[in-house]
Amino acid sequence: MRALIHDGKQLLLRNTLPTPELKEGEAIIRPLRLGVSATDVQIARGLCAFSGTLGREFVGVVEAVHGAANEFADCRVVGSPIAYCGTCDRCQSGLRTHCHHRTVMGLHDRDGCFADRFTLPVANLVRVPETVDDDRAVFTLTVASALQAIRQLTIEGKPYITVLGDGPLGLITAQVMAKLNASVRLIGRYSEKMAMCEKWGIKHRHVDDIGRRADQDIVVDCTGSPGGFGLGVQLVRPRGTLVIKTLLAEWNTLNAGVDLTNVVLNEIVVIGSHIGSLREAILVLEREDVDVLSLIGRRMTLSDGPAIVSAAQQPGMLKVLVEL
Ligand SMILES: [Zn+2]
Repeated sequence: MRALIHDGKQLLLRNTLPTPELKEGEAIIRPLRLGVSATDVQIARGLCAFSGTLGREFVGVVEAVHGAANEFADCRVVGSPIAYCGTCDRCQSGLRTHCHHRTVMGLHDRDGCFADRFTLPVANLVRVPETVDDDRAVFTLTVASALQAIRQLTIEGKPYITVLGDGPLGLITAQVMAKLNASVRLIGRYSEKMAMCEKWGIKHRHVDDIGRRADQDIVVDCTGSPGGFGLGVQLVRPRGTLVIKTLLAEWNTLNAGVDLTNVVLNEIVVIGSHIGSLREAILVLEREDVDVLSLIGRRMTLSDGPAIVSAAQQPGMLKVLVEL
């Protein structure tokens, strides 16, 4: 079978790999549609120490499950990329996504989904209803990430919310925030993406055209770049909340120019926010509460190999979808 792998140095498409072995509690999945994520791009750039098959965003069909019972037989599914042990103290206290022994597909000790077949624990799978087609379902993880930001916030009154970043996560986060009793605006760089905000009735400004008045109750950083944190600190009001969705390998090694002085002086609440509930995300997609189809930037196939990730790195590119 084929798989797009990172060998520790570079990305390459391998064509003659064996089908993965089915382990206890796991399912073999045949992907129907894949999405290229910011994490994939960082691995391709050599910023994460990961060797193996790339990819974490998929919708696919369950082909086989270890053991007799198979509630997912031939079902279309999406899945959480984080596999947990279920027995450690964190798992026992409900923090499964923070399991001490977790593996993460396409990132940490577990092959990803950019292959003809891959495996994932059955416990990670969520069934996709017929009403949600493949193009929508492949956005489930991004929608779940946006919903997690809301789950972590306390919304009181009618807050002013600024979403930073006009990539797929920022554009979806702005849409789900706009469903709240809130005044939402998106700060971005690309006029064609701003035009989408108008279609959705969401206010928008170019990043070069905004004041720095520190008057936002909540700022959500979806920029995917080191500058988002500093800009968020400038925009959020004293005792306001800054939600960080930007996950960067560079945070470790880069002098990101982050000045925490105003975080202390303005008593800003900083929240780190990662993956949320895929079940809730599927419901949002089923209700068509968010427009994800407008976020498809380009369609490619797995045979395109490393060019898939190169395409996702082009400035202003929206979501690159991969067909098998
Ligand atoms: Zn655990």
